[in-house]
Amino acid sequence: MSDRLVTTDVLVIGGGLAGERCAIEAAAAGHDALILSLVPPRRSHSCAAQGGMQAALANCVKAEGDGPTVHFLDTVRGSDWGADQEVANIFADEAPIAVRELAHYGVPWSRVQGGRNKYFIKGEQVEIDEALENDGLIGQRDFGGTAKWRACYASAGTGHAALYAVDSEVVRLGITVRDRVEAVSLIHDGSTCIGVVARCLRTGQHFAVLAKATVIATGGYGRIYGQYTSNATINEGTGAAIALDTGIVPLGNMEAVQFHPTTVLPSGILVTEGCRGDGGYLLDKDLNRFMVDLEPEKQELASRDVVSRHMQQCIRDGKGVDSPFGPHLWLDIRHLGEEHLRTKLLEVWDICRDFVGINPANDLIPVRPTQHYSMGGIRVNKDGEAYGLGGLFAVGEAACWDMHGFNRLGGNSLAETLVSGRLVGRRVAEHASGKKLRADTGIAFDAVDAAEQRAAKWMARSGNGPGVYEIRDAMGEVMMHKVGIFRTGVELEEAVTELGELLESCDNAVLRCKDPGLNPELTFALRLKGMLRMAMTVAMGARARTESRGAHFRSDFPLRNDKDWLNRTLVRWAADESEPAFSYEPTGLIDLPPGHRGYGSDERIEMQRSIDDYNATVLAEQTRHGRLDSAEEIGTRLRRGAWQTVAN
Ligand SMILES: Cc1cc2nc3c(=O)[nH]c(=O)nc-3n(C[C@H](O)[C@H](O)[C@H](O)COP(=O)(O)OP(=O)(O)OC[C@H]3O[C@@H](n4cnc5c(N)ncnc54)[C@H](O)[C@@H]3O)c2cc1C
Repeated sequence: MSDRLVTTDVLVIGGGLAGERCAIEAAAAGHDALILSLVPPRRSHSCAAQGGMQAALANCVKAEGDGPTVHFLDTVRGSDWGADQEVANIFADEAPIAVRELAHYGVPWSRVQGGRNKYFIKGEQVEIDEALENDGLIGQRDFGGTAKWRACYASAGTGHAALYAVDSEVVRLGITVRDRVEAVSLIHDGSTCIGVVARCLRTGQHFAVLAKATVIATGGYGRIYGQYTSNATINEGTGAAIALDTGIVPLGNMEAVQFHPTTVLPSGILVTEGCRGDGGYLLDKDLNRFMVDLEPEKQELASRDVVSRHMQQCIRDGKGVDSPFGPHLWLDIRHLGEEHLRTKLLEVWDICRDFVGINPANDLIPVRPTQHYSMGGIRVNKDGEAYGLGGLFAVGEAACWDMHGFNRLGGNSLAETLVSGRLVGRRVAEHASGKKLRADTGIAFDAVDAAEQRAAKWMARSGNGPGVYEIRDAMGEVMMHKVGIFRTGVELEEAVTELGELLESCDNAVLRCKDPGLNPELTFALRLKGMLRMAMTVAMGARARTESRGAHFRSDFPLRNDKDWLNRTLVRWAADESEPAFSYEPTGLIDLPPGHRGYGSDERIEMQRSIDDYNATVLAEQTRHGRLDSAEEIGTRLRRGAWQTVAN
């Protein structure tokens, strides 16, 4: 080993919940695991998660009758039939294990209080007697798009509690973490990934990390929407970008971008869906509860895509409240009372006080929808192994596993990070057990040289070209205003053209700061093209998909079209090619036939083939698109027909 080369058994890029949970599994199996992270792991974006983590524990009265099958049903409906149904089933089966495991790691879950409890349900205050024998069990609250109360929570700081507990386990196991280190490219030979080129953000030095298995767990790419996102500044999608650069590994469903209904003005910080789950209302400028008329059944607790669209339409119809930061709507949680707000929604209380300057027990909260979650990501099989490159895995928000399809249900992401972290971690450990480290220093040092030259080029360029932050801000404007909640062919065409121009302008962009070593402008410049390329895949994917499904809504094609579009978008784009290549694979084996979600529109273009016919093509088609064999054949974890026992 030298300062240009580090070796390990399992390399995990990302110290959020997914990466850390995966590393724990590999380390527990006896492997040497190394985590790289842009920030100390406890500062990862998982820490920002607020309202809850879905798992069918059925611990309170409003959760009675819940179970993994109901959770599966809600998840597939929430995805607008874009999810891989086997993966949704694995997830729903294992989520209760993940929640209980977190309790074991030390998460202080909010608990059921036996006896009389007061709740707000659909605008009414009700009293419900929780069974005394359930007193002290893990509590659950209502969330959008679910049939039962299923979100387990630690006040409104669920991600914080979970990440600190999981990170303590990482420390206990002695897993090595190198923070302020960025993976900037993958090292591979065209069929196998053998590690990454990493860059130290303190010194600017590049080095190679070689591993038997490499896992990308770098979270979402919300920052391609500039300031219009609830995501932290580190969510720039670099992990997905370096996978895309290979030209071999496809990204899946990039056009599926979630907008969360309630982020506060002007900061864009999110206040949890738990506010509406606990009984909060949305109001327009006339203080009218518009969701009751628009979605009589689920009201404010329809899925996020549906609620965000209704809110945006309400604003377009002139029902928004004018403000210096643009129009907004109101979230009203005053009726929940100060005691509830300062216990079960404590972080919301703090955010309102510190970032809006209001007391939510007395004041309405100004909110509007903002980019929030990346359903798309690195396409993997059910073991988390990337299409096309052996030895490369992806997990968490960076991956397209794909249990969310075109819309993720609130609370399903935290659960995914831990369920898939554990499951993929086990597969990674098995993979590493059967392998010798391939110390191909030739390929590795060539890749390091290439990365060094890229940085040197940025430093050497001079002139009057645009600054990198100007380009970033322009990208954010294009994405929010032309690839946003409502999309049209005309605007998407404009977006593709404008993003293309921004991509070209990167070649003339000039750094204002030329300091070697710690140079945030250079660090950002090195990511910029990757972000623009991902933005382009979102815009082009959305332009091509002439239907509306989940969060992807085309005003010019407003119906879900199961005849032509019951598929997953795949996109590949090698770093040296001018255009991405799109293809489409079946979503996976279908068990629950496409139908009405139970909220939103019930109009759609029906599937014309039989499900048996569709299913017969899945294995061959996905294999043709690069899917690698999983440890168990596809379909083995699908409990066919089980949903019929619970569907209504
Ligand atoms: C405000 C907010 C509230 C939310 N609330 C909820 C909720 O209540 N329930 C729920 O289910 N979901 C919620 N979510 C979503 C959920 O928190 C995230 O989807 C999930 O935590 C992502 O976890 P992750 O481990 O995949 O990624 P992250 O936690 O984002 O971790 C990514 C890691 O990758 C590292 N990294 C990135 N790029 C590189 C690189 N190139 N090299 C090295 N390291 C890199 C980062 O340093 C970080 O450690 C919320 C999200 C937001 C934004």
